[in-house]
Amino acid sequence: MKVLKFGGTSVGSAQRIKEVAELVINGQKKIVVLSAMSGTTNSLVEIANYLYKKNHEGAKEVINKLEHKYYQEVEALYSEETYKKKGHALIKTHFEYLKSFTKDLFTVFEEKTILAQGELISTAMFHYYLQERKQKSDILPALDYMRIDKNNEPDAEYIKLNIKKVLAAKPDVDIYITQGFICRNAFGEVDNLQRGGSDYSASLIGAAIKAEEIQIWTDIDGMHNNDPRYVEKTQSISDLSFDEAAELAYFGAKILHPTSVLPAKLGNIPVRLLNTLEPHAHGTLISSQQQKKRITAVAAKDDITAIKIKSGRMLLAYGFLRKVFEIFESYKTPIDMITTSEVGVSVTIDNNRHLDEIVDDLKKYGTVEVDRDQIIICVVGDLIAENNGYANKIFDAMQDIPIRMISYGGSNYNVSILINAADKKAALNALSEKLF
Ligand code: ADP
Ligand code: ASP
Ligand code: MG
Repeated sequence: MKVLKFGGTSVGSAQRIKEVAELVINGQKKIVVLSAMSGTTNSLVEIANYLYKKNHEGAKEVINKLEHKYYQEVEALYSEETYKKKGHALIKTHFEYLKSFTKDLFTVFEEKTILAQGELISTAMFHYYLQERKQKSDILPALDYMRIDKNNEPDAEYIKLNIKKVLAAKPDVDIYITQGFICRNAFGEVDNLQRGGSDYSASLIGAAIKAEEIQIWTDIDGMHNNDPRYVEKTQSISDLSFDEAAELAYFGAKILHPTSVLPAKLGNIPVRLLNTLEPHAHGTLISSQQQKKRITAVAAKDDITAIKIKSGRMLLAYGFLRKVFEIFESYKTPIDMITTSEVGVSVTIDNNRHLDEIVDDLKKYGTVEVDRDQIIICVVGDLIAENNGYANKIFDAMQDIPIRMISYGGSNYNVSILINAADKKAALNALSEKLF
């Protein structure tokens, strides 16, 4: 069975939803994972933020605007009166629920439930549409099988066991429709897989059922060799290895959620990135095949902070790096890049939540400097040492950009370069010009 995930833009209007239906109605059994209609999750975040601040009027305004949009989409989506009525009732239920928080208590638990409404609505709307089209479709409720553990990591065993149960309970179905993004946590509460997490849902489901293929349908024809939001004339890459795709997703290629490649890689399940607007384009096939001797793509990861710890006396003493790492570990803050020299060590992090405490603790071991507003540029490809000349090309392209850190050799697929955020566009464009 294949798993097909459609992102926000792909289900962003009644017309788009109809186009998705054309793509999934073909008599083959499949699981369809849907995101919320585009813009919805952002609006839900906005609503939650207003509720936190007890600004009920602000929340109501966003709720009403969103509700109005949904009634219009329902009108445009269904032809039969019965289904229009069902659609209206659906929207009414979900929006009454959202409105209830402008009167009742609001806490972090309710916030997660609010964020879940987008995917709950889009899947129900799609299911009704397929019913109107006389298809054998049904909902697989993600909250019945998708689960994260105490460390907020997916609970693979639980997911495998429970998705099989819910599938077995509905054998006579061609098109199973399920919610991306949403899950339950270790306490059984509604939670989510972080923003953009529907891709992760699809690959977790694919791995759990040992799918024949995972398809990620979006608004572009596959992974491009540079970020199309910053560089003109980027090109779609026809084949990527799991490792290359994982590096690109982790380092900012928004088309894939950072963690979504791993479950597919572990299960050796091919992932295809496809374009809903151009369904016959080849897109990108991600598999275990690594193409040799090429620089594949460039991506950039934002909001990076660099921390330099200088300590002439202690640095190369053994145990020093362990103490430094332990400080980051104690604040559950992962390190992205690391470089060392005789007198200091520099690391980068992408999460400043505990920056002040980390810096205070690090001061025990030397002087500490912090640089905010940095980004990591990541160049991905077959970059093993024997392919000499590639590093030269990369740095030649970057000659006018101040480089603060370089990391190479951590894997055979990646060179990471830390630069000022202000230089992002210039750097991405210079790399495209010299590398592709
Ligand atoms: P969806 O809503 O379908 O999940 P996303 O907006 O999350 O879609 O991802 C698709 C977008 O990712 C594209 O529209 C594109 O602007 C952006 N993007 C960033 N980097 C890349 C890249 N290297 N290749 C393709 N798309 C990219
Ligand atoms: N709807 C969620 C978001 O906007 C999940 C997703 O689209 O992948 O973040
Ligand atoms: Mg996405």
